[in-house]
Parts: sequence; structure tokens; C-alpha cells
Amino acid sequence: MVHYKTLEEIEILRENAILVSKTLAEVGKHIAPGVTTRQLDKIAETFIRDNGAVPGFLGYGGFPATLCLSVNEVVVHGIPDDTVLKEGDIVSVDCGTVYKGFYGDSAYTFPVGEVDKETAFLLKTTEESLYLGAAQAIDGNRIGDIGHAVQSYCEERGFSVVRELVGHGLGRDMHEDPMVPNYGKPGSGKKLREGMVICIEPMINAGKKDVYERKNGWSVATVDGKKSAHFEFTVAVKKGKPEILTTFDYIKKLKES
Ligand code: MG
Ligand code: MG
Repeated sequence: MVHYKTLEEIEILRENAILVSKTLAEVGKHIAPGVTTRQLDKIAETFIRDNGAVPGFLGYGGFPATLCLSVNEVVVHGIPDDTVLKEGDIVSVDCGTVYKGFYGDSAYTFPVGEVDKETAFLLKTTEESLYLGAAQAIDGNRIGDIGHAVQSYCEERGFSVVRELVGHGLGRDMHEDPMVPNYGKPGSGKKLREGMVICIEPMINAGKKDVYERKNGWSVATVDGKKSAHFEFTVAVKKGKPEILTTFDYIKKLKES
């Protein structure tokens, strides 16, 4: 069942989205060779609590941390630990909040120092596909329009789309209907309606699409061991033009400074 949001509820979701956006930039500031994923997790938890919110992932389904930090071949749900980031790695930082009874949920994949050209292209393509998917989040379109936009763009560039994990509705629950796959056919699936708030989150692999779950019961990694990128933001479906609630501007500013 889809929970349609009022304008007031969308404003609260926006407050969450902006806090997550700022948290991603705060974490991004500290991403460098030599840092452990556990250190990054602490930075996020402190930042979220200092801003009067609660980490959305901590304890969710038993998840043990504030962030999902997924390095290189780990697609999503990496658990922060003593892993030391090194030059050339990539790390997906996925962050959730709870504030005023609603969730925030967004992700950004950062390069650690300098990455090779193919990896840089994977990051760029995945981020661009997110905007292309979001552009389809218009009243009257269908879920398959979003997935098709993401899939066609990434596959044309030689990358593959993870099938087992998908985007989702967002509200008082972190995972609400509808599911939002990163693949699909134009004009197929559930109709998008104003008042829907969804998370679009392409998970794009440099190699083959196949993934498996690691023994910790959380981390999902590529079978071929090649890198995977993940970008996510929250979008309110509107008539004529979608409204992206998340912003990567705080991250862009970091890169300029
Ligand atoms: Mg997320
Ligand atoms: Mg999500």
C-alpha cells in the first residue's frame, strides 16, 4: 500500500533529506587514505545527533551502525569496521535519519584519493543515471520509466544493473511501497502519483550484474569482485516536474574547496 504524503509531511521529509545531505558531506570531508570505516561511522552519528535527529539505520532490522559503508566490490550494506581506506578505493556512504517521525535516506559513492579512469567513469555514469531516473518521477509516468532510464544509460556505457536490490517509498517507514527497480520497461509498472515520495538508488556494477550476500548477513558484494557504485536520493513525485529533496551541493562544495 502506498502512503501518499501531504505537503506538510513532504516538508518534514525534506528536512530529513537535507540533514542526510549535510551528513554525507561531513563524512566526505574525512574520506582519505588511512581512515577506517568505523571512524567515518562515528563522525556521522555525532553529526546527526548534534542536529537533533537519530540515526535511521542503527538498530534497523538489527543493523549495528549509523552508516552503510561499502568499499569497492561491496555494493551496499557494508558494516563499518577496522577496514582502512586506501588510495584508489571507492566507498559508498549510505545514510539514514529519523526526525519528526519520518525517515531520510540517501547515498553517495566517494573516490578515495585518485581512482583509475574506469572507476571514475563508473561513478560519473551511476550519478548521472540517478538524475535521469529522477527526471521520470512525474505524476502519470510509471515505475518502469524510472528503471528504464537508469538501465539503458548504464548498460549503453558497458556497466550492469543489480537486480536483487531496489529503491523504495519513504515516509514514516524507511521502506514503503512502491518498490523502485533500477531496470524496467517504459510504460510498465505502477503509476506514479503526486504525493508519492520515493528513493531512487542505482546500484551499478563495473562487471557483471550478479551479487551475493556475505557471511555477516548484511554486506552484498559482486560475484566477479569488480567495483560497484551506489547513489541515492529522495524525490517527491509532482505534476510536470519532480522535486528532488536531497542535494549533493554540499558535497560539490567540498570538491571545489
Ligand atoms: Mg540508503
Ligand atoms: Mg534506500
